[in-house]
Amino acid sequence: MLPRQRANILRAWYDECQKNAADLATLITWENGKPLADAKGEVTYASNFFLWFSEEAAHIHGDVVPSSVPGNRVTAIKQPVGVCGLITPWNFPAAMITRKIAPALAAGCTVVAKSPGETPFTANALAELSRRAGVPKGVVNFVTALQNTAEVGETLTTDKRIKKVSFTGSTNVGKLLMKQASSTIKKVSWELGGNAPFIVFDDCNDLDAAVAGAIACKFRSSGQTCVCANRLYVQEGIYDKFAEKLAAKVNDFKVGYGFDDGVTHGPVIHDRAVSKVDAHVQDAQKKGGKVIVGGKKLPDLGPNFYAPTVITGATGEMDLAQEETFGPVAGLFKFKTEKEVVELANDTDVGLAGYFYSGNVNRIYRVAEALEVGMVGVNTGLISDAAAPFGGVKESGFGREGSKHGIDEYSVIKSITIGAK
Ligand code: NAD
Repeated sequence: MLPRQRANILRAWYDECQKNAADLATLITWENGKPLADAKGEVTYASNFFLWFSEEAAHIHGDVVPSSVPGNRVTAIKQPVGVCGLITPWNFPAAMITRKIAPALAAGCTVVAKSPGETPFTANALAELSRRAGVPKGVVNFVTALQNTAEVGETLTTDKRIKKVSFTGSTNVGKLLMKQASSTIKKVSWELGGNAPFIVFDDCNDLDAAVAGAIACKFRSSGQTCVCANRLYVQEGIYDKFAEKLAAKVNDFKVGYGFDDGVTHGPVIHDRAVSKVDAHVQDAQKKGGKVIVGGKKLPDLGPNFYAPTVITGATGEMDLAQEETFGPVAGLFKFKTEKEVVELANDTDVGLAGYFYSGNVNRIYRVAEALEVGMVGVNTGLISDAAAPFGGVKESGFGREGSKHGIDEYSVIKSITIGAK
């Protein structure tokens, strides 16, 4: 198809998502549990990838290259990589899928997407909307898997017909899939786990804004986003005040079923997640941390609910400092100097997102450049935007989604040299 035809289909898919936004949000809340307002926000974010890449599809340019050989003419063209295998997690049942499918189709690829076992219905709804948008038969294919996830993953990462694998999920599964994909040297991109530092310097202009940023970035989706703050570093002069304000706000959360009025925070995804969150809280308490709000399961609401928690006196030896909790627990670490906190922030094998609050423009550049992460939020706790490159460094993976770079993950560059004679 011509790029413009692909663009028109992606635009039609965007329109279908907009028309059916309320139904998509309902499905997301049903199967993921996040509050309906958050689910609506996800639908907007998810559909924006169709809009963004409908615009990019018509602008895939190559290069005319000055040759080193007299008389030769060299051009470089971009071509679709081929059939793509896509594997996504349950925490954003729509957006993780559209962030991959939209650039793949824009580039001219076809896809086989394995939907998450926990949230297959949103993926099925997107499939139906692709049909209504006019995506030709066979271009977008969804596979569901529950018991046989590993088997489907093995096929997608080893079958010769698949030329590219894009995976979003945990670092451990990413490492396994990378090994499998090496058997046929596929083009790959990995969006893996994080352990985001969230730093509040005492020169931040507005402590309340920093608290609001921490809430957005730590407790959104009950702490189950890969870019969630995981370690909150607060400078010593404002530590007590920050802790007090954060605890007061967290205490006001209404935890419950996503469809109920006024509910601000839902459950975590399953009982294994509750156990991990609880283990991190208990470990922190054993090592001297103090729970100032939350710190317990909420069995009256259901087996998957955990009270949003704030812990003061967090230290680097605690499990919550070393691995992502992926749940509603904010551990507050005290620091003295910028040099110290940058070292602490970087002292981890992963590097997806990092955040800090400061009013000093020199510090803003210095710290943003020093953090070993793929994305930095300065004076904001929300960084996701279809227009901005999304991705990590270190064991958080490589490749970028969204932005003008997203399409490169699904393209290959071919150079064509025409000899002089
Ligand atoms: P997970 O790695 O267990 O699962 C992610 C997806 O991979 C699911 O669809 C799952 O069914 C599938 N999967 C698991 N084992 C597989 C295998 N052997 N073969 C093929 N597919 C397999 O991760 P999870 O715990 O469900 O999701 C949370 C993790 O995802 C966190 O670590 C989080 O940070 C990460 N995440 C990263 C990003 C990002 O953009 N970097 C975004 C969202 C989530």
